[in-house]
Amino acid sequence: MIEPSTAARVPRPSKPAPDSRPGLSGLPDGALEAWLAAEGQPAYRAKQIRDGVWRQNIVAVDELRTVPARLREGLERDFRVDTIATDEVSVSDKGLTEKTLHLLSDGALIESVLMHYPARGLGEDGRPEHRERHTLCISSQAGCAVGCPFCATGELGFGRDLETAEILDQVRHAARRLAERGARLTNVVFMGMGEPLLNLDRVLEAVAALSDPRRFGLGARHVVVSTSGVVPGIRRLTALNPQFTLAISLHAARDPLRDVLVPINRRWPVAEVVAAARDHARVTGRRVSYEYVMISGVNDTDVDADALAGLLRGDLAHVNLIPMNPVAHTPWQASGPQRVTQFAARLQQGGVGATVRRNRGQDAGAACGQLAADRAGEPPALVVAHRREVIVRQSEAALRGDRSVERLPADLESAVAGRAGDR
Ligand code: SF4
Repeated sequence: MIEPSTAARVPRPSKPAPDSRPGLSGLPDGALEAWLAAEGQPAYRAKQIRDGVWRQNIVAVDELRTVPARLREGLERDFRVDTIATDEVSVSDKGLTEKTLHLLSDGALIESVLMHYPARGLGEDGRPEHRERHTLCISSQAGCAVGCPFCATGELGFGRDLETAEILDQVRHAARRLAERGARLTNVVFMGMGEPLLNLDRVLEAVAALSDPRRFGLGARHVVVSTSGVVPGIRRLTALNPQFTLAISLHAARDPLRDVLVPINRRWPVAEVVAAARDHARVTGRRVSYEYVMISGVNDTDVDADALAGLLRGDLAHVNLIPMNPVAHTPWQASGPQRVTQFAARLQQGGVGATVRRNRGQDAGAACGQLAADRAGEPPALVVAHRREVIVRQSEAALRGDRSVERLPADLESAVAGRAGDR
């Protein structure tokens, strides 16, 4: 059942001028110390400033009362305390999902989603078997070049990479909201707008800050970084042997279909992506998650389940099945609950673990990028009709088994060539 939504629109800040001062939260190790030295300030001030940013979670330099006024003036001149503004908050699922639209200093919009999971069940010792969790899904780019047709962000196109502080300040905003109710963030997933491995340096800096006990102090095992299949990025991660979980947004096990659903597949096909993920699991000893959005009559047949089971059988892998969120520009619908359950059972019979994930925020623009797309305005009806026609034509060809002959979208071509290693 669709619940009524509570869209709590906060007063909209006037559009700020682009601000080139770096955000304090995103400063790499040692940068604050170097700045303090140049200012003739003692090194111990770095801890006071870091504590202000990460423990006190300040929004303005004025709140930093532990440092002298002259130092606050210098900080105000050279840095931003907060690089993102909260523009709109949509609360849904009876308060369990909070979707936030953030405005960046150049006017770009990004989204983060805070999901609350209450404690469940009591064990023999009378304690909850599942502890309360608060998971934040964050964006790594404004828009996305990958262009998956079931995704509202993909339709918006690519804007720009986020700075490290813009990634981390999403976390600080959520932590502040949670602190108001006496709770703490327990998990962070890089599954919002953008392809994290096409902004990998900054994502790695953000993960380092999240897991640094002097900064956010969240164990890396509570972090998930997803990718649509940027193989050189996966291989680079593997070489770093990280402790966070790698998630592959697979969505189809057969190349013709994945060429359409996840266009980056035209560059790195299914077998290459899974081979890289398999190596990652072997080297890190950590199970890889495969995300699979279920689209009725498109990728949810028994043939698809068998192809997926055949692909992952024997791997250190787990599949998460997520019914598609409706988006305006596609003719597709989510698979029904029965089909999703049957698909999961078939995977399990085929030797692959699978979990059905609930859709969150259906009544509040649940699709990734939906709030930003709403803000951009409805595309003209003719454009939507044409887009649907193209999607139907491409998916029909894919279901006949034809590989796509389309080029990569232009933004994706340059992102892949410029940042992921062109091989
Ligand atoms: S699903 Fe992810 S990778 Fe695909 S377009 Fe959307 S944000 Fe980009």
